[in-house]
Amino acid sequence: MKILVVEDERKVASFIKQGLEEEGYTVDVAPDGEQASLMAHVGEYDAILLDVLLPRRNGFEVAAELRREGRTTPIMMLTSRDAVEDVVRGLDAGADDYLAKPFRFEELLARLRALTRRGGAQRHEELRYGPITMDRLRHEVDVDGQRLDLTPKEYQLLEHFLLYPEAVVRRTTLLEKVWEMHFDPESNVVDVHVGNLRRKLTAAAGTALLHSIRGVGIMLRQDDTDAAGH
Ligand code: CA
Repeated sequence: MKILVVEDERKVASFIKQGLEEEGYTVDVAPDGEQASLMAHVGEYDAILLDVLLPRRNGFEVAAELRREGRTTPIMMLTSRDAVEDVVRGLDAGADDYLAKPFRFEELLARLRALTRRGGAQRHEELRYGPITMDRLRHEVDVDGQRLDLTPKEYQLLEHFLLYPEAVVRRTTLLEKVWEMHFDPESNVVDVHVGNLRRKLTAAAGTALLHSIRGVGIMLRQDDTDAAGH
């Protein structure tokens, strides 16, 4: 696994680089946004950790440029704590997830694993996360080995969450991907269906699996990991 770390604070960059290398990742560091764009074009990275505030070109611009060019490398934005507007802007620019600084290294590792798993998961006919197994050929979902009865919309929602486990999925993204509609701020259609799906999953698993991240979106996450929330 090859990771590009984009971070201008040298101490933070070398801390992340060293920690990831100890876990077996290959790590390159870019100290500014321009360098990051150049390196992302040349190197084939499995994921990019992208700081927001950077010299020369900020993280939003770097992410937006990569997505405009059709590059699908998973991107995790490193934002400042509680900067919800940064999170929203980052996800709009094409980031897949975000992590608020300062973060615990174990959390970075857990989120990075989830992010890089995503690429492989899309090629498989079976999606798994925690107690959930989705058979995409038969359109069947099991939770702890018990068949779950879902409506077609609930199935599509769950499929999207399983493709992006432990990542924040925005309501607008669900509206576009599942309903093929553009964002209508008056509509609570997503919340209604997500609510029904959440109740079914919680009842079957005996624990909450879909979490609302206030002001941002929804995340599929099993809370027995040490990556528990903000
Ligand atoms: Ca910075």
